[in-house]
Amino acid sequence: MIEQLKTKLNEIENNYTTKLQNCASLKELQDLQVEALGRKGALTELLKSLKDLSLEEKKAFGPLSNEAKNKLTALFEEKAATLEIEEINKTLNETDIDLTLPSYPFEKGKRHPLEIAKKRMTDILKGLGFVWAQGPLVEDEYHNFDALNIPPHHPARDMQDTFFIKNTQKKDFVLRTHTSGVQIRTMQKQKPPIRIIAPGRVFRKDALDATHSPVFNQIEGLYIDKNVSLADLKRDLTLFMQGLFGPKAQVRFRSSFFPFTEPSVEVDVKCVFCEGKDQNCPVCKGSGWKEMLGAGIVHPNVLRNCGIDPEIYSGYAFGMGVERLAMFSLNIKDIRNFYDNDVRILEQF
Ligand SMILES: [Zn+2]
Repeated sequence: MIEQLKTKLNEIENNYTTKLQNCASLKELQDLQVEALGRKGALTELLKSLKDLSLEEKKAFGPLSNEAKNKLTALFEEKAATLEIEEINKTLNETDIDLTLPSYPFEKGKRHPLEIAKKRMTDILKGLGFVWAQGPLVEDEYHNFDALNIPPHHPARDMQDTFFIKNTQKKDFVLRTHTSGVQIRTMQKQKPPIRIIAPGRVFRKDALDATHSPVFNQIEGLYIDKNVSLADLKRDLTLFMQGLFGPKAQVRFRSSFFPFTEPSVEVDVKCVFCEGKDQNCPVCKGSGWKEMLGAGIVHPNVLRNCGIDPEIYSGYAFGMGVERLAMFSLNIKDIRNFYDNDVRILEQF
């Protein structure tokens, strides 16, 4: 019995060794491998008769069959490698590919001009001791309006100006109209001193034109401590503008009104294009100044709403549009250039 099996094993080994050497393609070789070593292949079928052998015979024949299987497997792999190289060479010869030609130039991506501007601004503010704070883009009415001393009749709460989101909890949510909610959330959970910036996207129902977009980026800042005054605000914002527009940048503060600050100011920078010398300057329209941001001393009501005693603490807040400052510092005339993703424009920065 065992002698018969040995003969059969030799036959299989010799037969397939010859056949695989004559294979002309990988496909043919794969089919042959299945025929020899597959689940229903010749060798597997032979091994099934092992069950009829005695223990002694199994011990003698087992290693022989394993050896044959390993030998054939190695031969198939070797032949497959040879055939693969032959097939690649054949394809290359037939298709006229010149592998010595240089490859197509690979365009490297770079930062978007808005990101460049935002990073410059936040870097300067970090240098002034501010830390970055974050909050939700979808905000509840309390954090977006009420806590900021924005009364129900304020136009910002009008459906025309704000994206409201109706909610099943019967509580209205809005796409945040400013990042001030982050200031409220920080004051609610952290005791002064507080010195944060809140950069991020905000949403208002503005039609898209050369200077307006329904989605834009803001950076707001908040500093709360004992004895913080308008003098601190003027110092820090002047340093910020000089960091952004150069040490000679001139800054002007004009009184203004916001519900959440008292007193409130608007901050202008001397036009960096005409320095106030060109009556026809298209950037400052001949005024010599460009409005950059709004700021002020945090209203006592806002502090009270956040559990901070306005008799002990005071602070300032400011908010600026990243796009507006970026347009001014990069001399971009149309805000839509930031969002159109025209590479010819974006690659200039
Ligand atoms: Zn000008």
